[in-house]
Parts: sequence; C-alpha cells; structure tokens
Amino acid sequence: MSEPTRVTIVEVGPRDGLQLEKSFVPTARKIELINALTRAGIRRMEATSFVSPKVMPQLSDAAEVMAGMERAAGGVYVALVPNLKGTQRALACGADSVKIVICTSDTYNRRNVGMPLEDSLKSCTEVLAAARQAGKIAEVVIGLSFGCPLEGPVPEDKVIALVNRVAEMGYAEISIADSMGLANPRQVRSMMRRLRREFPRAHFSLHLHDTRGLGLANVLAAWEEGIDMFDASIGGLGGSAVVVAGATGNITTEDLVNMFHEMGVETGVDMGKLQGAARLAQEIIGRPLPSHVLNNGTPAQFYQKVREDEARKAAQRS
Ligand code: ZN
Repeated sequence: MSEPTRVTIVEVGPRDGLQLEKSFVPTARKIELINALTRAGIRRMEATSFVSPKVMPQLSDAAEVMAGMERAAGGVYVALVPNLKGTQRALACGADSVKIVICTSDTYNRRNVGMPLEDSLKSCTEVLAAARQAGKIAEVVIGLSFGCPLEGPVPEDKVIALVNRVAEMGYAEISIADSMGLANPRQVRSMMRRLRREFPRAHFSLHLHDTRGLGLANVLAAWEEGIDMFDASIGGLGGSAVVVAGATGNITTEDLVNMFHEMGVETGVDMGKLQGAARLAQEIIGRPLPSHVLNNGTPAQFYQKVREDEARKAAQRS
C-alpha cells in the first residue's frame, strides 16, 4: 500500500472543541480562531454546527460565524448537521460541505442523536440529496467505529455493513471515527485496509482520539494503509463526551502536523502560524491545552533553543 506524500489536515477545533466549552465563546473570538487557522494554511475545517441552538447553545451563532469568517481560495468550510433542516440552514449560510454523524450503535444513536439508527440513515439520504442539489459536498461520519461505551467493542463487520449502507446511498466522503479513543493501531490498519479494498470508489478519512495515548500511532497505521485525511483539533481542544464525563481527547493539530512534517509528508500548514493559533485557542478558553508541540516546540525549534542557551552560557563564561 502506498503511503501518501501529502495529507489533508481537517481542523475540527472550532466545532468539536468549542461546543464542549462550558461558557459561550463570543462570536468574534470564534471567527478570530478560524481566521488564524486559515492563515496557518488549514484548508479544510469544521467551522461550526447547525444543530438546534437548544441542544448546542455554544454554537448558536453558526450563521454569524459562517458570515463573518475569512475564506481561503480552495478552502472547504464544513458544517456539522443533524438532519435536513440543519442542512438547509448550513447551505444557505454558504457551507461548502455538510457532515452528518451516525453511530454504529443503535443504543448510543438514540442517546446521542435522539433517534434510532434507521431514522438517522433516512436523514443521511435527505442530507445527501440536499447537498447534491446545491452542488455541495456531503460527508458522513461513522461514529463509534471501534467501540461504544454502551455496547462495548464494535466488530469490524458491523462498520463494514454500515459503510455499505451509506456507500449505496451515494456517499463518497466517509469518516471513520474512534469517538471514545478505543482503537489500537492493529485494528485501525485492518479496518482501513478492508474498507479501501471493499469500497474503492469511496474516500475515507479518520477522526481519532488520543484518550489513551494511541492517537498518533493510529494515524500512522492508517497513513501506511494509504489514508490521506485526518481530523485534529487545535491545541487538543474538545473531544466529545455525552455519556462518559470528561472523555476528552481529540488529536492535537500541531502534534499531528509536526509528525507528518518530520516524516517529510506535506500538509500545506505553516507550523509557526499554527502554534500561534494554538496559543490563541488557549487564550480564548483561558486554560492550558494538552499540546506537546506547543509546550516543547518542534525538533528544529528545540535545537535552536539549545544553541541559544549554549551561546548564552559561553558568553557568560568569557
Ligand atoms: Zn472528536
């Protein structure tokens, strides 16, 4: 399997991250963060979500965010949508792509989206039709692809069967999500190999969590299987937790970008500016974020710092 020489980083912080913040992040600050990410070279981003403001008050300003943010040429600004109504709002606000989540587990689907899986699949059909009619992209996320807090480990066959349903509908952009951070690299390798073989016309991306420290190892396993698109969150913001309180753990964007850059894989992202965006995210939410590269720098930054420290010591000695 050929390893991609270039990957797309999908920034999800403004949506997946900020939706979990206890206090409402002012619209202007959300826009500031999105713009900083765009200026750092991010070209695919979950900008916001068009779920009901009653369900998600933190993102009740979705329309204002979409209207106020800068858009890079060639950028794909993705909106999360729960159903047809949300899709219509998102498309009216200029979303380039709408993304709907379904879960492998019917139990969790009822809890998370408030409807049985079969009803969610019906919504998927409507969302896809609406996006196509508007000439926009529709993406589907297969949530809990490796494990469900309520039903336990998820067999590969169950994911394959669900992917088969959405692929038959006509979805070409399919995101496999380890929403609880339960996957290991061997599982990821096996799953992505099989998906690519069985659905050669679909394009798969991954939404991985680092809840148990396996986030980047899982990315590497998938990349070696030819996967070229990965979600990540600036500073490691957010991580989704409807059932399991405090289950944080989105992969940190700058750590992911650093890994690819160190391996000679292109991302199109400017690391210095990305670190600036991570510092901005920290400032906006008012607490430190779990980012390795933000705290320790890239290898080049590390060597530079050592050189400066040594020069300073030498100057003091002389
Ligand atoms: Zn997540």
